[in-house]
Amino acid sequence: PDKIHSCTWALGADPSTSPHAKWEKPVYQEKILPNILTTIGNTPLVRLNKIPKAYGLKCEVVAKIEFLNPGGSIKDRIALRMVEDAERQGILKPGGVIIEATSGNTGVGLAMVAAVKGYKCIMVIQDKISMDKIRTIIAFGAEVVRVPTMVSFDSAEGIMGVSQRLHKLIPNSLLINQFMNPSNPLAHYDTTGQEIVDGCDGKVDMVVMGTGTGGTATGVSRKIKELCPNAKIIGADPLGSVMALPSSLNKIGVPVTVEGIGYVFIPTALDRSLIDEWIKVDDKDSLNMARRLIREEGLACGGSSGVLMAAAMKAAAHLKEGQRCVVLIPDTIRNYLTNFTNDSWMEARGYIESPLTKNLWWSSK
Ligand code: PMP
Repeated sequence: PDKIHSCTWALGADPSTSPHAKWEKPVYQEKILPNILTTIGNTPLVRLNKIPKAYGLKCEVVAKIEFLNPGGSIKDRIALRMVEDAERQGILKPGGVIIEATSGNTGVGLAMVAAVKGYKCIMVIQDKISMDKIRTIIAFGAEVVRVPTMVSFDSAEGIMGVSQRLHKLIPNSLLINQFMNPSNPLAHYDTTGQEIVDGCDGKVDMVVMGTGTGGTATGVSRKIKELCPNAKIIGADPLGSVMALPSSLNKIGVPVTVEGIGYVFIPTALDRSLIDEWIKVDDKDSLNMARRLIREEGLACGGSSGVLMAAAMKAAAHLKEGQRCVVLIPDTIRNYLTNFTNDSWMEARGYIESPLTKNLWWSSK
């Protein structure tokens, strides 16, 4: 068991050498579950209908609904796994303080895990990130430190620098570091990727994912390439991010408004050799696509889902009838009630295509 949880699977190594291939997903058979954390994962796969049809796609497009995790995002999976691996390794003990640099969803997941398990939690977050996520983190009892977005990633004032400084200053603290933590991709290898293969009975022709830390893309791709070797992996990347290859695709200096994916550095948790093709999407197309997913497919999703769906509509255009494209839907609309779901926010940035406020009335005016 020590070996299984030792997190020593080197990034870039052959998946068959992973000690976590033997990791066993807990099965809860009770009708009443012991706590909310046991509901993380096992999210549904749902067919998308109107949007793929409008794009003239022949293949089936299936969404993996990660906003149905209890904290509202795919990052609940890694929050639980990183904390429990740290507990098993003895580097997080009762009374410990969890510190992390996050674009919000890992913060929500960690704050929820910490609330249930009784840890103190301090999350370091860029100031471009919506107040909706920050309020959720604070409601779980965690503290939030907001830092400037527009500083270089290795600056002392950025999320990395500030979280490292807090870790040095606070005794009994653990810096989770999802950008380098092997438990991040391993959570997706063992759960998200396996669930996609199982849910599709092994018939997967394409998977479209975004890259923030790259944990999802690395873990899911390794599992898919092992079990469905002919499937194509698509990386969906915001225009101003530097993650895509060839790097000539990346528009250096263009700010990225979409939250959670697209950075100006390459995290260790991202193994880019697993991505077969990168597709770039700008903020306007991404956020309008997210609004279409909400309105036309009924998915209460966030902005990064729009990046992935827009990329999927391009990448899957050449798939044939009977083939299947899986798109991840990483997080919830609840994170964006003060930004892209708001018409004036969209208007101020020149993004608006189809206003929603026309549906809002006052009975007395
Ligand atoms: N979408 C959203 C909204 C996110 O918060 C994240 C995580 N930062 C992702 C996608 C990408 O996940 P990953 O970190 O596994 O690349």
